[in-house]
Amino acid sequence: MVAAGGSVSSRPQALDMPWLSSALHQALHTMQGHAILVSAPPGAGAFELSLAIAQGWLCHAPSEGRACGQCASCHWVASRSHPDLLCLLPEALQQSLGWRSEEETTGSEEKASKSKPSQEIKVDAVRAAVSFVQTTSSSGRSKVVLIHPAEAMNQVAANALLKTLEEPAGVARFVLSCTAPEALLPTVRSRCQVLPVALPTTEQAHRWLSDRGVSRPDVLLAATGGLPLAARDWADEGMTAALWEGLPQCVMRGDAGPLAAWPVPRWVDALQKLCHDGMCLAVHAPPRFFSAAVVPQGASLQKLSSWARELQRVAKYAEHPWGQPLAVAALLQQARQALQPA
Ligand SMILES: [Zn+2]
Repeated sequence: MVAAGGSVSSRPQALDMPWLSSALHQALHTMQGHAILVSAPPGAGAFELSLAIAQGWLCHAPSEGRACGQCASCHWVASRSHPDLLCLLPEALQQSLGWRSEEETTGSEEKASKSKPSQEIKVDAVRAAVSFVQTTSSSGRSKVVLIHPAEAMNQVAANALLKTLEEPAGVARFVLSCTAPEALLPTVRSRCQVLPVALPTTEQAHRWLSDRGVSRPDVLLAATGGLPLAARDWADEGMTAALWEGLPQCVMRGDAGPLAAWPVPRWVDALQKLCHDGMCLAVHAPPRFFSAAVVPQGASLQKLSSWARELQRVAKYAEHPWGQPLAVAALLQQARQALQPA
């Protein structure tokens, strides 16, 4: 989805996400420890903030503690080639975050045909990070290891990090991100200064999306459950407010229409949202993901509940390489039956 270098080089700092400014300021001005744990809800921009912190630490000419965006170091961060920055990401996130070279991408595409990209940060990668911080920094300044999300390390991987996290080599610093600090080993958590980050307010998120050319941002923001980065990514992929609002009609016609190419997991996610909102309407509560005007009215709560259970079951297997058209057709037929007025 993201062209090589596009994502990171156009967003080298967290400056274009105003809701992260105070956390960035806090990290670079008042947090003196060698390890920061960014604790943020999904979709709040934890990776972008972590990268901005790393960039601030590595910058050759920081101004008021913030990365200058101009020096060689800042350019290396932007082009993902900084010799003193190591970024540990699960394979499944590397490409979408623009953190992978062309050769690596080609190589792993061959691998991907055999197995799907891992969601874990493996112990080998952590061991490589431990060796990385033990070598001398190329500039004589800091060496930085960024780990996103830290909960992607399994217990073995996290344990391999502990000693280095506690007593890093002289100039090494760590920035970890997580969506739930309690999901991390307490021993990892206790070695970091926690930097809590909140989602932007609805108003901030609307303005941010509008500034990026997303029309009717309220619709896509609701569609993603209030996650501005996800809404931006959807818009970048061609999703529009009209397509989202037309989805329930597609379902009732039993025709995926312009959304036929959506992968099965995304259909399952959208149908779970539609089911959720159908249930809200059935108990006279406001819907969350769609506007009330487009959700089919009058379905029975009982049918919707069993549909919800069925979708939950399907969601567990939705990553499997199903025959796409057949799977979507089956999902739509099931949805239609559940949403018929009682
Ligand atoms: Zn700089």
